[in-house]
Amino acid sequence: MTIKKILTEPNKILRQISKDVLSVGNEERKLMDDMLQTMYNANGIGLAAIQVGVPKRIIVMDISKDRNSPMYFVNPLIKNKDIKMSTYEEGCLSVPDQFAEIDRPSFCEVEYLNYNGEKKLLKAEGLLATCIQHEMDHLEGILFIDYLSKLKKNRALEKVKKIQKKNNEESK
Ligand code: ZN
Repeated sequence: MTIKKILTEPNKILRQISKDVLSVGNEERKLMDDMLQTMYNANGIGLAAIQVGVPKRIIVMDISKDRNSPMYFVNPLIKNKDIKMSTYEEGCLSVPDQFAEIDRPSFCEVEYLNYNGEKKLLKAEGLLATCIQHEMDHLEGILFIDYLSKLKKNRALEKVKKIQKKNNEESK
């Protein structure tokens, strides 16, 4: 398994719309393995393929405390969602060290293909619902900071740029 580089804002690739996967084969499974390893390595709970520069509709997640319950979603589609909203403080591996409270439907049903290419239905609520919706936004080129006011979004982006500048200087 390979740990991949996670793209961070600002980066045009993160704004691409990802493409449907035609079939789940060894190439896709290798990508999912690498994505999972990359996500664990970065202490994340979810990662979309576009965050490692691959514009495919693939997501990996693990919201368990023990970090041993990986979930894989290929071509996920929201079939149903609640009008009721929940608020969670969200962060994103592509927007390092920035957090904000975001409202999203508190329940959703998602149809998807699993690691073996089998069609499944997930009924998600709580953190799981928020996480899958956050990750599915990545497939449309949407980041959680897009839901913030312009002022807050710009402030977050400025901070990310500052952190990156500092990291670059330290690695010189
Ligand atoms: Zn994210």
